[in-house]
Amino acid sequence: MFRFSPRLSAALCSMALCSLSAAVAEPAKSPPHWGYAGSHGTAHWARLDAGFATCASGQRQSPIDIRDATPAALPELGFSYGKVAPAIFNNGHTVQVNVPGGQTLQVGERRYELLQFHFHTPSEEKVAGKSSAMVAHFVHRDAEGRLGVVAVLLQPGAAGSAFDEVLAHLPQRAGETLSVADLALDLNALLPAQRGYYDFEGSLTTPPCSEGVHWMVLREPMRVQPEHLKAFRRLYPANARPVQPLHGREVRVSQ
Ligand SMILES: [Zn+2]
Repeated sequence: MFRFSPRLSAALCSMALCSLSAAVAEPAKSPPHWGYAGSHGTAHWARLDAGFATCASGQRQSPIDIRDATPAALPELGFSYGKVAPAIFNNGHTVQVNVPGGQTLQVGERRYELLQFHFHTPSEEKVAGKSSAMVAHFVHRDAEGRLGVVAVLLQPGAAGSAFDEVLAHLPQRAGETLSVADLALDLNALLPAQRGYYDFEGSLTTPPCSEGVHWMVLREPMRVQPEHLKAFRRLYPANARPVQPLHGREVRVSQ
């Protein structure tokens, strides 16, 4: 698909065609293409667009290898999740489950609302150097716009969990959304019984890699049936950003 690059638009402006190029370029503008391998892969993100510079220059990037965490009196994770009718969306980088408003997470004074959750394989975060088979990232935002992401690590297991209800309905094409009429997904059933967690400051793990994200990685993993792990990997065989340097950040773990 043809689209105007900023450089081309500038060149056209210098040719007194600026208003024309702007009028044409705006509707056709699409986000820069990025991926996990090759010339648009994780090592090249910062070069793909000026807006992605933080992917290389950031000092608080995610994911990280979690080790040597400091025990701390962290606030409890107060989930107020219920049953929702999710919209399951293949966004071209992962499968993302959009949920209606009203699902909240209280952490100390901060009250977050759940926006969506999505998957990576293998897990982006490592614990003592080890990845899990998969991870689900629950992306929340508070009233001030600050993001808080809860990570639930996933390991294959025959018994499975409520994640299987989601992974049994994977939209096969990028841009496709599935609304499963008879699926009342119990979001609580996606959380492990033990809510101990690792806590650190980080970033989005996809471009533009924006920082100021509060990460909470649950220590207890959940299970998914191996066939559903395989089904996800048929769509996205490897959609995990490599671990990033800590640059002196403290990682805390709830006692
Ligand atoms: Zn993620």
